[in-house]
Amino acid sequence: QEDIFKNVVSHAKEYGFIFPSSEVYDGLSAVYDYAQNGVELKKNIREYWWKSMVQMNENIVGLDAAILMHPTTWKASGHVDAFNDPLIDNKDSKKRYRADVLVEDHAEKIHQKAQKEIDKAKARFGDAFNEQEFVTTNARVIEYLAKEKEIRERLGRSLGAGDLADVKALIEELEISDPETGSKNWTEVKQFNLMFGTKLGASAENAMDLYLRPETAQGIFVNFLNVQKSGRMKVPFGIAQTGKAFRNEIVARQFIFRMREFEQMEMQFFVRPGEEMKSYEYWKETRLKWHLSLGLGKENYRFHDHEKLAHYANAAADIEFNFPFGFKELEGIHSRTDFDLKAHEEYSGRKLQYFDPELNENYVPYVVETSVGLDRMFLAVFATSLKEETLEDGSTRTVLKLPAVLAPTKAAVLPLVKKDGLPEVSRKIIEDLKWDFNVAYDEKDAVGRRYRRQDALGTPFCITVDHQTLEDETVTIRHRDTMKQDRVKITELRGIIENEVSM
Ligand code: ATP
Repeated sequence: QEDIFKNVVSHAKEYGFIFPSSEVYDGLSAVYDYAQNGVELKKNIREYWWKSMVQMNENIVGLDAAILMHPTTWKASGHVDAFNDPLIDNKDSKKRYRADVLVEDHAEKIHQKAQKEIDKAKARFGDAFNEQEFVTTNARVIEYLAKEKEIRERLGRSLGAGDLADVKALIEELEISDPETGSKNWTEVKQFNLMFGTKLGASAENAMDLYLRPETAQGIFVNFLNVQKSGRMKVPFGIAQTGKAFRNEIVARQFIFRMREFEQMEMQFFVRPGEEMKSYEYWKETRLKWHLSLGLGKENYRFHDHEKLAHYANAAADIEFNFPFGFKELEGIHSRTDFDLKAHEEYSGRKLQYFDPELNENYVPYVVETSVGLDRMFLAVFATSLKEETLEDGSTRTVLKLPAVLAPTKAAVLPLVKKDGLPEVSRKIIEDLKWDFNVAYDEKDAVGRRYRRQDALGTPFCITVDHQTLEDETVTIRHRDTMKQDRVKITELRGIIENEVSM
């Protein structure tokens, strides 16, 4: 698995998808730049999301709020006081860790032990195996799962109560050691606020302390009434937004999975109080369907319902994805109650209420949020699509089997040779197609090598112009995944490509 992950990182760099930020200065930890192909893939994911939210739903509209916001926003939202990670240092190695992650990883290891027992029994009993019965009767599995549950619940309780001494006690009781050095010599657990601070204004005395937003959601909440009134929106309705968010993450060693500057795609759905659970269930299912529509494989997704709820939520679930380093959160769906709007009412002294003409009453709506990281989506799509294939003749090829709708370049036009007018015909095909798709031109190297290069970039189609083209206006079109080649008329190209790549 580690090898797969290394391949992903190096392929992303070699083929112009992702570079470390300011690499000439040796980079900046957990900050990355999207290169010529990465920026296209990222844009296409964003558009795929935006279309499914804003274009396809009459009652969802978009917003692009500023990154900088009035600082009271973050007081009201709870971020100033509660947007913390509990961290712990190892006195011997001087390494810093997230205390909750250490405990969760420990719980996960116990879970793996139970899973191992289950897998062993499954292999032994074959078709006759009844997993449900096994997990409720096998003493060892019962013990493992109970232990896991106990640890997770205790962690949830102590974090919920802000009891950091108990988190430390838990780490000691479980004899958790430094994952890198094995030392068990820990400091106390401290809270660490994840927001980046900055200053507005020129003179030192008058400067105002600001934060870079740690989530895009608050820009939606403070604009809730502006959008509702100016758009004459009726509850239930949603506001969608994509944009940068910033978090001073402590654990930052997972490429674009956990970045200090990243992009979120969030939608806040405003509903009548009491209707939030129905809406929450609806959005859980709807968002999973959206993910599945990309065809990365059903088995790569699972829901994780939260036992430990954030201060603003009455129900929360993650859609987890099977990343190269295991199942991890990709998207969060949260029932945020009226917490945020009420808090902004309180801190601003302004009413943020909606008059419901059907009920003939005023209320503060409840909110269901869907929040997915664009960079995490990128990693999910990119890592899952990257394949090493052994071909019939024994040779291998690297192919990036991106969903065609997301591919940075939809087709490459390749003249078989660099003469006899073939480049000119190729250029003419590009001139025609480029109004609708990103199309590339490549005339360098043998055509086989050019195919491989487009495979590695995820280009769904290669169009080859040869001498026959000059006679009958046909070309070959090669399909990335099957490598099958068809002879078609130039005039048919647009339709063939369109059919595969349209959203
Ligand atoms: P995690 O538990 O992994 O830190 P979170 O629960 O803090 O994530 P949310 O606050 O729910 O995350 O943010 C919503 C989404 O934003 C996440 O599901 C994830 O896809 C994305 N996200 C959050 N933090 C980061 C980050 N540091 N880098 C990249 N994406 C992130």
